[in-house]
This record gives sequence, structure tokens and C-alpha cells, in this order.
Amino acid sequence: MDAISYERAPDAAAAIRSASQPGAVFIGGGTNLLDLMKGGIARPLKLVDITHIDGMERITPLPDGGLRIGALARNSDAANHAWVRERYPLLSQAFLAGASAQLRNMATVGGNLMQRTRCYYFYDAAFAQCNKRTPGSGCAALEGNNRIHAILGASTQCIATNPSDMSVALAALDAVVRVSGPRGERAIPFAEFHRLPGERPDLDTTLQAGELITSVDLPPPLFAEHSKYLKVRDRASYAFALVSVAAALQIEGGTVKTARIALGGVAHKPWRATETERMLTGQPLSRATLQSAAALAVREAKPYRENGFKVELAQRAIVRAVEQAGGVA
Ligand SMILES: Cc1cc2nc3c(=O)[nH]c(=O)nc-3n(C[C@H](O)[C@H](O)[C@H](O)COP(=O)(O)OP(=O)(O)OC[C@H]3O[C@@H](n4cnc5c(N)ncnc54)[C@H](O)[C@@H]3O)c2cc1C
Repeated sequence: MDAISYERAPDAAAAIRSASQPGAVFIGGGTNLLDLMKGGIARPLKLVDITHIDGMERITPLPDGGLRIGALARNSDAANHAWVRERYPLLSQAFLAGASAQLRNMATVGGNLMQRTRCYYFYDAAFAQCNKRTPGSGCAALEGNNRIHAILGASTQCIATNPSDMSVALAALDAVVRVSGPRGERAIPFAEFHRLPGERPDLDTTLQAGELITSVDLPPPLFAEHSKYLKVRDRASYAFALVSVAAALQIEGGTVKTARIALGGVAHKPWRATETERMLTGQPLSRATLQSAAALAVREAKPYRENGFKVELAQRAIVRAVEQAGGVA
């Protein structure tokens, strides 16, 4: 058994100092990190408990009309906050589609952003091959059980997917992740926060060592009237997405003024379907246009032995989510 030390950080500065030491990691709700430690996948030397940092759980309006969600806000509190429900219902729906009520009561927004993939081979240390867990060891999923794996943006090193529902909505909403670290503060546009596997599948995000996520900032709400988070999964609850779609629209005079579409369950990061968005813009929401636009989202798809169904599923899910967002279904 490894010896682990525990420290309760009184404030952000102390947390960052402690987490900059070798082998130290932040712990939020612990719903992912502790599972990984029990399985021997994560082996930290020191846990820096950030849950007592005052104020980082707050949800507050921003001067530009946007909303700041503190990184320590629990998933259930964020989902049920009046402003989130009224102004960003897409995000509220995504939170509520994740995990279970008990888990959402513990899970923090920062921890949700950082949760690791649910690839079977990553989670099971009995498998020697996993480039994400042990760089250079290979990827057992390439030729193995890959039903839940990526069809977009994967590499020969890794075909794992990002499991976060919340992050798919945040991608569609163009959120900004605010972090504070040993070299100061920075704001990371959501599209640049998670990364594709490339040659470094061990790195899920662009967060640097010792950096603490302090909040997620949402731009002013544009999509409260027309949005939908649709999650397709094996069970109606308590299951990760096979494919999910965050669809957000602005509609004027029966045509789409702005479209934002993000997909979950298909890539190593939340996947923005930018070509689909462009094709929908300026068009009325007809089934034919939607089907052509949805096909663009998977034009570059590369399925593996067991997950070819995701190519069709993603298109159908986009059509349904956009129709529901637009009120035509
Ligand atoms: C059975 C089960 C089912 C689930 N189903 C779903 C699902 O359907 N959809 C879904 O989206 N999720 C699901 N989850 C995952 C759940 O959402 C995550 O476990 C949770 O969001 C992680 O948050 P946490 O605060 O507990 O993170 P922790 O476990 O405390 O931490 C996770 C990681 O984040 C890092 N971290 C935490 N806070 C910060 C911070 N502020 N700055 C920098 N790094 C930080 C930690 O160091 C650690 O590496 C499920 C989990 C379980 C156990």
C-alpha cells in the first residue's frame, strides 16, 4: 500500500503551492479520483483538498450579462440554480443527464471538467496496453472491445472518448475556463481546454502542472428559447453517453440565425460540428436540410470494429436534438 498525505487547503494560493509539489493532486468531490486510486490507475502521493476554499462554490452574474460558475459548485447545485435553469437550460439538462443524484451532489464542476475516460482498458490495470495510462504501451482498444470508443479525431495511439455530459453543453455555449496557477491566472476558451490524443493521449487537457480551475464563465445567454441536450445511452439513467448532442439555436422569422452543435461520446474531447452549424445558418429547419447538415458532422468519421453504429446514431441524434431545440418535433 502506498502512503498518501492529505492537506486541506485554506485558500487558492495555498492549494496551488501544495499541488505544485511532485505527486500532489487536487481532490474535489472525489467521485472520479478515488475510484481511480482504488483501481491503482492514479497513484498520488498527496491529496490537496480544495473543497474548503471559500467562495469558489458561488454562482454569480458577470457584468456583461454572463454567468460565473465557481469550480467548486456541486453539479446538482449548478443544475438547479435558477439562473442556469432559466438562462442556460441546455447546461442544466446536461448536468441532470450525468451520473446519479447522489454523485451529482458530490461532484464539482472543476472535477467534472477533469474526469478521465471510461475506456475499459484505461480503467483496468490488468491490461498492460494503454497509452493513456502507460505511455508507449500500445492501445488495446484499437483491435479489442471498442463499442464505446471514438469515431472522430482519434489517433493510432488512443481511441478513448471524453465522458463528460456537462462539457458537451459548455462546448456549445462557448464557455471559458478560468484557471490560476504558479505563473498567474489565465482564461482558456472551451475549445482549447480538452485536447485530441495525437501522440500524447496521456494528456486530456491543456491545464499545466499546479493550475487550479477556479470557475467556468458563460457568455451572455443567447439560446434559452431554443436548446436541447439529447443523450443516447444503453440505460435510461446512470450510464455514459454512446452519443450525445448539445444543440443551441437562435431562430428569427422561421430561419436559423445562429446554430451551435456539439457532440459527446464520439471523440477524445467534446466535438463541435462546425460544418453542420454553417449549413444550418440562414436556413429554415426542414428535415432534408437537417439530414444533409448532420451528415457533414460525420464526414470524417473513422469507426472501428464494434462502433460503426455511432456514425448513423450521431446523425439521427443531431436531427432529433435540433428539431427539438427548434420546436419542430
Ligand atoms: C458510477 C458513475 C457514473 C457516472 N456517470 C456519469 C455520466 O453519465 N456523465 C458524466 O458526465 N459523468 C458521470 N460520472 C462522472 C462524474 O461526473 C465525475 O466523477 C465527477 O464530475 C468528478 O467530479 P469530482 O469533483 O468528484 O472530481 P474528483 O474526483 O475530486 O477529481 C477528478 C479530477 O479532477 C481534478 N480536479 C478536481 N477539481 C479541480 C480543480 N478545481 N482544478 C483542477 N483540477 C481539479 C482532480 O485532481 C482529479 O484529477 C459518473 C461517475 C460515476 C462514479
